[in-house]
Amino acid sequence: MIGRSHIVLGVASAITASSMGYVPLSFLSLCAAGLGSLAPDLDTERSLLGCRMVWLSRPLSRLCGHRTVTHSFFVPLLIAWGLVHFQGMGSLHSPWGAFLVGYVSHIVADLMTGGCWALYPLSKNRVSLWPYAKTGSFREYLLLVCCLGLLSCVTYHYLSRNLLHDGSRASQHAFIA
Ligand SMILES: [Zn+2]
Repeated sequence: MIGRSHIVLGVASAITASSMGYVPLSFLSLCAAGLGSLAPDLDTERSLLGCRMVWLSRPLSRLCGHRTVTHSFFVPLLIAWGLVHFQGMGSLHSPWGAFLVGYVSHIVADLMTGGCWALYPLSKNRVSLWPYAKTGSFREYLLLVCCLGLLSCVTYHYLSRNLLHDGSRASQHAFIA
């Protein structure tokens, strides 16, 4: 998936996660999600973030190759563990949590557009969920639209449930008063 698609999907995933109450809905959170959605591609100089941080992407690219170690679910898990260990559980419900949501959304998107080392270090096999959409192709955009549709449905479900919950609580309070 190209960088712009990753940002759109990462930000949309963070909005869905905030509707579920996992991360705050703020400008900082959305920026963090966008950054997280680009971070795994630091392993190539040709990526949106990699071309701006060549000092990091070039050695990473030579050392690991593209879509390998940085594209493993182990990386966001390790970051989450570090956050909980040093800053407590609450740090996951901050913009850091949104960063992780963006990061995971990138790996899931790459799983559907060619595959990556999602299970490293357990396996060095390139895992692919749907091998029919190449990066930058029309099918990728189609896939992006489907993912956004799915995320919108989930967001709508949680927002309407929260509104209903708040509404019934408000009417209960009105009844008691
Ligand atoms: Zn990638």
